Amino acid sequence: MAFSRGTEKIREKLLASETGALEKTGHCPLEVGMLGLSPYELVIGSLGYQNSYRLFNHQEGTRCERLFELGDNWISLESGRAAGTFGVLAASVSYEQELIWLVRALSRIGVPVRSADRGPRDPIVLCGGPVITSNPETAAPFIDVCATGDGEQLIPVFTGSWLDTVGSGGTREDLLERLAGQPGFYVPSLYKCDTGEPPVPISGAAPERVPRAVVPLKGVPVHSTVISSMAHFRSMFMVEITRGCRGRCKFCMVCKVNDPFRAVEPANLIDLIREAPSSARSVGLVGANLCDHPRLGDILETIVAGGRRAGVSSLRIGTVDKNLLGQLRACRANSITLAPESASPRLLKAIGKSYDPARLMELVRLAAEQGFAGIKLYYMIGLPDETDQDRAMLTGQLRELAEAASGRIKLSLSVNPFVPKPQTLWQDCSMMKTAAIKKVLRQLKKTVFGISREIELSWQSPVEATAQAVLSLGGRELSGSVEKAALERVRLLDCLAGQGVELENLLYQREKLTSAHPWRVLECEPSLKQSPNGG
Ligand code: SF4
Repeated sequence: MAFSRGTEKIREKLLASETGALEKTGHCPLEVGMLGLSPYELVIGSLGYQNSYRLFNHQEGTRCERLFELGDNWISLESGRAAGTFGVLAASVSYEQELIWLVRALSRIGVPVRSADRGPRDPIVLCGGPVITSNPETAAPFIDVCATGDGEQLIPVFTGSWLDTVGSGGTREDLLERLAGQPGFYVPSLYKCDTGEPPVPISGAAPERVPRAVVPLKGVPVHSTVISSMAHFRSMFMVEITRGCRGRCKFCMVCKVNDPFRAVEPANLIDLIREAPSSARSVGLVGANLCDHPRLGDILETIVAGGRRAGVSSLRIGTVDKNLLGQLRACRANSITLAPESASPRLLKAIGKSYDPARLMELVRLAAEQGFAGIKLYYMIGLPDETDQDRAMLTGQLRELAEAASGRIKLSLSVNPFVPKPQTLWQDCSMMKTAAIKKVLRQLKKTVFGISREIELSWQSPVEATAQAVLSLGGRELSGSVEKAALERVRLLDCLAGQGVELENLLYQREKLTSAHPWRVLECEPSLKQSPNGG
């Protein structure tokens, strides 16, 4: 199929920006297309997407190419083929909104959006990632196979099962039945689901509850395969140094779906960073809390020795010190990110996350002294039981922060509404209503403005946060709304009427819910007690 010159030009531009793309030659019976659901510059910065791409290509008899919507067409970056020609369409879903983009992508590619309408000639739709691992039910009717847990275990099992069934003359039903019995695989079509009830198996092959796939982190650490100068973090070589988190914050889904905490073997990391491709200008360290890695100092020294800049994700306040800040500066890190979440000691205790406010001020002063350009601070509003007094404490903390920064370092505040997430300890807590969130944000804007015009304030839109909560917590009853939002390109919240979705029950009176959670079909505890190299 020939595409427009415009589509070809975008493809050429993206390919020219990259090094490391995998081009597997020879006959491969299994051809997987990895859907890039968000814009290219974000997708290429997702280690989950890159890891799946690499893992698929490492399997015998399997070729994997990356699919993006370029201009008006969904095509493969590697070969320029139409997305609909791949036998398997795979996606790693990192954000709830991507569920809507998944349905839109399937429709644009020309694949029936509901799995029940797909036939033997249609691709198999396989989805994994944190959103699917926490609650696959919202999007269950659109997905043939949900993969929950670690790709290192799931991908070899999927490819082996495909080659033994579909690849050997079997049917897609043979494949689905075979996968349903394997840890980490949830096949929605093998379960019936009455409104308001969790799924129940209708096939002997499907277990009542699906355990998550969990592996020890051994061998070569997860790292970027493709490095692109058009990525959001330009020309960055990303390396995973920890998976999971030792923290137990009650709102946090990231730590639950990646449990247990595992640290990557230091020697493997150091070798990998030393041998990073020459096109990499910086090394991005990936993990929920980097300070949990026992050899973070040595890892940073290796980056300095290689003459590269370090990119670091969020650091836990209690674990950062002067020495670490110095090492980060030596790696030319310009800013750090901390997540105080709240200024109220009472709420922090409730969250299960405590820090000494004096330490936070000290870190701001130290970072300013050491020449960092900025600090990003994440706060939440609308936490369970939050009062006006709790919120008022933020005003006091912001004044102190501005004083500690004293114009030498930029403070960027990101304030996000609390969204109850599946599998977390606060999954049954209610969310603040949109109008109330808007009111709190208005007040906060005034407060920040009054303290200092130097403080940058950003926030997640209350409407987006509400839609995110609906997608996080819903079940199959949402599928009509998701399909409408995807195909008619309208807001999800405008599609809920008449679909049996009551925001009042789903979001605002969760404490009163009596039905079982849709994600009950997943066994939420990991099967691996602790990895040998974990903490
Ligand atoms: S420290 Fe961060 S990643 Fe760890 S549990 Fe708390 S919020 Fe989650």
